[in-house]
Amino acid sequence: MPKKVVVLGEAREGALRNVSFEAIAAAKKIANGGEVVGVLLGEDVQSLADEMIHHGADRVLIVQHPHLKYYTPDGFGQAFMAVYEQEQPEAVVFGHTALGKDLSPKIASKLGTGLISDVTGIEGESDDTVFIRPIYSGKAFEKVKNKDGLLFLTVRPNNIEPLEPDTSRTGDIVAVSIVIDSLRSIISEVIQKTSEGVDLSEAKVVVAGGRGVKSTEGFQQLQKLANLLGGAVGASRGACDADYCDYSLQIGQTGKVVTPDLYIAVGISGAIQHMAGMSNSKIIVAINKDPEANIFKVADYGIVGDLFEIVPLLVEEIERLKV
Ligand code: FAD
Repeated sequence: MPKKVVVLGEAREGALRNVSFEAIAAAKKIANGGEVVGVLLGEDVQSLADEMIHHGADRVLIVQHPHLKYYTPDGFGQAFMAVYEQEQPEAVVFGHTALGKDLSPKIASKLGTGLISDVTGIEGESDDTVFIRPIYSGKAFEKVKNKDGLLFLTVRPNNIEPLEPDTSRTGDIVAVSIVIDSLRSIISEVIQKTSEGVDLSEAKVVVAGGRGVKSTEGFQQLQKLANLLGGAVGASRGACDADYCDYSLQIGQTGKVVTPDLYIAVGISGAIQHMAGMSNSKIIVAINKDPEANIFKVADYGIVGDLFEIVPLLVEEIERLKV
C-alpha cells in the first residue's frame, strides 16, 4: 500500500546535510509510490527546500521561527509535532545524527510508538519491508519489521544511497506557521570550535590515529594524508586520552560512529570499543607494527610496519599521483 512519509531535513551552516538526501531515498522506498514530504525547521531554511525536491521529496513544509535558529529538543519537538498533526503520515524518517538521536525518541514517546533506530539497510517492499540495524556494538545485525501503526526510523549516515538529484523536479513548498509555547531553554549563541574541512561523521574517507601516533605532530601528518584523500581525521580514545587530539575526533562506542568508503587505521590496536564505531566501513586499511594487532581481524588490507615510515611514503606517493 502506498504510504505518506515525512522526512526531517537537517541543515548545518546553511546547507543540507547529505544524510537528509539519504533519508529521502529511504522514504521513497517506504512510500512505495506514495508521497514523500520533506520538513525543514529553522530560522531561515526556505532556500533549502528545492534541493529536497531535487533529491526526491514531492512536497516540502517549512517551519521558520526565531526559536528554531538553533536546535533545542523543546523547540524542534513542538515544531515537528505541529507538522505531524497536520500531515498524519504513515511513516517518519530522521537521520541518525546527534540531532536525530536526541529528537526521535522524544517524538516517538509523545506519539506512543516504537522507533527503529540506526537503520543501515532496507530490504523488501510494502508490508514485507525489513529494516537492517546493527546490534551488540556492530558485532551482529538484526532485521526488524514494523508490525502495525506508525513506522518511525532513523537512518545511519553513509549507508543508504541518495537518489541522483534531478533539477527539473518540482513540488509545492509550503510554509507552516506555528506558535512555540514557552521553552525550557533558549540558545542565544553557539560558539563553535574551529574545525577544518570535511565533517567526520559524513566523510567518505577517514584517516584515524591511535596511541601509536604518539603526538599532535603525528596527527598533523594524518591530517595531510586526509586532506590529500578529501577525507577527515578521526582518532581512538587512546589518542584522545593522551591529548594528541580533541575528543570530538573520537570514534567508537563512546564516540562517533562512522561508515566511510575507506577507513585507514593508523597505530590503533582495534579494541572492541573502537571497532564499534568503524567496523562497518566499506574498506578498512590498518597500519600497525604489531602483526597480532586485533585491528587486522577487520582490515581488508593490512600493512605491518612502522607508521612513521609508512604514512610519509603514502603522502609522497599520493602527491606524486596527483601531479
Ligand atoms: P593502544 O591499544 O595502546 O594501541 C596502540 C597501537 O599502536 C598498538 O597496536 C601498537 O602496536 C601500535 N603502534 C605503536 N607504535 C607504532 C608505530 N610506530 N607504527 C605502527 N603501529 C604502532 N576506545 C575507542 O577508540 N573509542 C571508544 O569509543 C571507546 N570507548 C570506550 C568505552 C569504555 C566503557 C571503555 C572501557 C573503553 C573505551 N575505549 C574506547 C578504549 C579502548 O578500550 C582502548 O583502550 C582504546 O581504543 C585503545 O586505543 P589505541 O588503539 O589507540 O591504543
